[in-house]
Amino acid sequence: MTIFNLGSINIDHVYAVDHFVRPGETMSCLGLASYAGGKGFNQSVALARAGAKAVHIGAVGADGRALLAALEREGVDVAAVAVDPAAPTGHAVIQVDPQGRNCIIIAPGANAAVAADAVRAALAAAAPGDLLLAQNETAAIAEAMRAAKARGMQVALNPAPMDGRVGTLPLELVDVLIVNAIEGAELLKLRGAEAPEAPTAALEALHGLFPEAQIVMTLGENGVAAVDADGAVSQTAAFRVQAVDTTAAGDTFAGFFLASRARGAGMAAALRLASAAAAIGVTRPGASPSVPSIREVEAWLAARDGERTCNEH
Ligand code: ADP
Repeated sequence: MTIFNLGSINIDHVYAVDHFVRPGETMSCLGLASYAGGKGFNQSVALARAGAKAVHIGAVGADGRALLAALEREGVDVAAVAVDPAAPTGHAVIQVDPQGRNCIIIAPGANAAVAADAVRAALAAAAPGDLLLAQNETAAIAEAMRAAKARGMQVALNPAPMDGRVGTLPLELVDVLIVNAIEGAELLKLRGAEAPEAPTAALEALHGLFPEAQIVMTLGENGVAAVDADGAVSQTAAFRVQAVDTTAAGDTFAGFFLASRARGAGMAAALRLASAAAAIGVTRPGASPSVPSIREVEAWLAARDGERTCNEH
């Protein structure tokens, strides 16, 4: 099964600052580093490192070729990424203060110029049973979802970052919905429903709205809860690790979960693999550089199982 990821590709400019810039203020930063980013990019990297056959659909400007080369080195097919001479590559301006808090401005650039026709052309290569994945950082998501369904594909949606546009998408077409707790609550509110505090209650409310979908709700260090289309609820605790940077935890989780399901794993096994991959990721700095490989995740899980068995004897 091939996973077609319609997703953003950004350059993240991270500025270390003494404090967030104030109205009318001009100030120098303490340091600057630039990284490849965007939820789409990160999730394609996670899919590929999880061993899935991944095709990225999206757009960059002429200044984005290095990002495509980076995806290609991961084994992601980038033939369906348009290089748009008229739009700059999307970028993010991220201020990080000494307490580690951040403020982010996203300039969507070419991500907002992804053409519906180009997406449909890319999906023409898909076979029934292949999967479309989208987040909420590019244009043409609704068109992609409809085209995917028309081809007999499954549709996975990670509606992040959450905003009012998500409410305009044909959400009834979604087969796999992946949200964090905040996005889950926002989605309920967008649909005029109450958002219960307790994650399992929120998950059940989402299941009521989208009864045909598998719904996965990640809960940060509290793990993950999921409901299958048949209504069976599973919960998996997070692995206990020393977190240093949780950026892209959700992207790592989504990539490993979908890759595992695509290989035919059951819900519980896929949640466990994805939780392990995300846990390893948060122990390391950075977004996509922190994503582990499937071999590493399997070895890490085997070592944990080994430890547990030894402790039991
Ligand atoms: P997002 O990054 O989208 O907000 P979450 O914060 O819910 O997503 O994290 C996604 C998954 O990553 C969680 O379900 C969990 O498995 C894992 N994770 C996140 N934070 C931690 C942590 N501090 N320790 C261990 N695992 C974590």
